[in-house]
Amino acid sequence: MEFVDKAISKAKEVIDVASQKTGEVVATEKQRFDIATLKSKREKDFLSLGKLCFEMVKDSEELDPPVKALIESIKEKSAEIDALNEEILKIKNKTVCLNCGASVEKGSAYCNKCGFKM
Ligand SMILES: [Zn+2]
Repeated sequence: MEFVDKAISKAKEVIDVASQKTGEVVATEKQRFDIATLKSKREKDFLSLGKLCFEMVKDSEELDPPVKALIESIKEKSAEIDALNEEILKIKNKTVCLNCGASVEKGSAYCNKCGFKM
């Protein structure tokens, strides 16, 4: 009987240690998840701050070189985006002549290359 009691006691001890370790793992995972969530939210705040600062200083002449470089880089990309959007608009306003394949303004009655009725 004493042997059985000792075995049960030992088994309980092993289970307690194991569940304690599992608890630690779960707690660590939760903290890691919270850290990742906070880092993600902080990145969004940095982005918002960057956009606000860009609007505040974009036309300023007195900027530190690294800030000036980033401002110029953003301005260049914005110009490229505008140009691409304009290209899309131009493409959208064109249609193709079914007779000769020429690019024709939408709404034109006839193809300006072959005279085909649109
Ligand atoms: Zn045509």
